[in-house]
Amino acid sequence: MLAAQREIIVRELEDGTGAVVAVALDTGGLRSGIRMWFDDLDEQHGPVAEIRPYGLRGHRVSLKFGRFAGSVLRQIQQASPEDQQLARALVASISPAAAVIVKDQSLDDWTVADGSFQMVAIIKHDGPPDTDDAVSHTCRQAIVPMMAAMAELIGYDVVESEMSSEQPEFEGAITTAVVNRRERNPRNRLLCIRLHGEACAACGVQPRLRYGADAGGIIEVHHLEPLANLSEPKRYDPATDLLPLCPSCHRAAHTRRPIPWTVEDIRRMLGASND
Ligand SMILES: [Zn+2]
Ligand SMILES: [Zn+2]
Repeated sequence: MLAAQREIIVRELEDGTGAVVAVALDTGGLRSGIRMWFDDLDEQHGPVAEIRPYGLRGHRVSLKFGRFAGSVLRQIQQASPEDQQLARALVASISPAAAVIVKDQSLDDWTVADGSFQMVAIIKHDGPPDTDDAVSHTCRQAIVPMMAAMAELIGYDVVESEMSSEQPEFEGAITTAVVNRRERNPRNRLLCIRLHGEACAACGVQPRLRYGADAGGIIEVHHLEPLANLSEPKRYDPATDLLPLCPSCHRAAHTRRPIPWTVEDIRRMLGASND
């Protein structure tokens, strides 16, 4: 595989996981593949994904842990039920056609119990697997969600941007911080887009179509948890609690604080301003 494809892999993985990723060409075996891992853990101390050509039109993707991953495995055991749920949802978002297998476990309730954990998927293409498009497709289909799931379990911190410090202090400040974290978590973003697509839930604009691929990533993630209910902790569900919004609609939603305007409110505003 070519250097350009390594770049595709790094970009896709870093966007989806929020972690810095390292990539190496694997020249062992008959058909060479590419291995990738989280740079701060290196290849021996964390999860390693591998992509290899499979048959004439496919890729085989696998994920295992490095030989000295003990401390990361212990860290993963500290993951909250919510992190677990998000990690499983990320893997469950891989197309059924990829026939994902978690070794010796079911897809519904897998855990990373020890270093023998292994996940495998087969991605089929319309043409040969060595093109940029095929590699990119396999990344999006399988490698990114798998590695994003691992990032969620390991607990890569989501960097808070300046926007959150602009928020005024009020009673729901802690919950607002949680909402902001969820909205900025790249794994939540990935899952939201996989589940709901890239069209703004309020105005329907698709930035990827309107501005092209270079600016296509500007769709944002909005977290719907009503702050008024903060005394009643509710189970977080990325499928129902996250929605894609374009930057304008997202900004509009947060003009009301602490409880943002609903998507229906924004549609009403849009309807009124268009008259
Ligand atoms: Zn919009
Ligand atoms: Zn929001």
